[in-house]
Amino acid sequence: MRIDAITIFPEYFDALNLSLLGKARDNNLIQFEAHDLRTYTSDKHKTVDDSPYGGGAGMLMKPEPWGLAFDDLLAADGETVIVFTNPAGEVFKQATAHELAGVKHIVFACGRYEGIDQRVVDYAATKGKVRLISIGDYILNGGEVAAIAMIESIARLIPGVIGNAESLVEESHTESGLLEYPSYTKPASWRGFDVPEVLTSGNHAAIAAWRHAQQVERTKAVRPDLLSD
Ligand code: SAM
Repeated sequence: MRIDAITIFPEYFDALNLSLLGKARDNNLIQFEAHDLRTYTSDKHKTVDDSPYGGGAGMLMKPEPWGLAFDDLLAADGETVIVFTNPAGEVFKQATAHELAGVKHIVFACGRYEGIDQRVVDYAATKGKVRLISIGDYILNGGEVAAIAMIESIARLIPGVIGNAESLVEESHTESGLLEYPSYTKPASWRGFDVPEVLTSGNHAAIAAWRHAQQVERTKAVRPDLLSD
């Protein structure tokens, strides 16, 4: 899989050199590059923003640098998925990560200021498949953190990225629709808190039943919306 990000702060993406994603890049399971939008400007100040038509607070990202970046980075076959990080988009879920993990080439467009001129989205739609995606109902200063969250979530679904593929099965937000049960490691007793007895019983059926009951209880308490989905 190839992933590109267009941003005015490519340094944000240095975090993707770390840990499992860094290894996945070293092993060529994922190719990733962050591109500085300002390299697609032609004026002395490398301007990427301007005031909005119709007035209003703040600045908007102007279309010309984006157009040149897309001309440079989008595959000619029209198969690239262009993800605009956008709080007004569809909300990113585990199902979205699965959909995007099957794509050959994704370009993340990271907004700043009050966002990007709408014609950039319209232009991208003539060159590839566009999705506007939000990582939640709150506002960030820019799309970089949102893109990194999505990239990490997508990349860990690519075979070979996570050492033990089984660890992807029992997680929260997987098929069961339930949140994960509480987990414990050694020591069995720590600062007056003990591991639930059932987990040290060796009775696998009892452990499975306890974990399922915990999942249901936790989901009901914290995310009842998941049970009604
Ligand atoms: N004026 C915009 C609005 O009200 O929808 C918010 C602009 S925000 C300050 C700047 C940029 O941060 C956005 O263009 C987007 O790329 C990114 N961003 C902010 N919140 C986000 C979220 N929840 N999910 C994804 N991207 C987000």
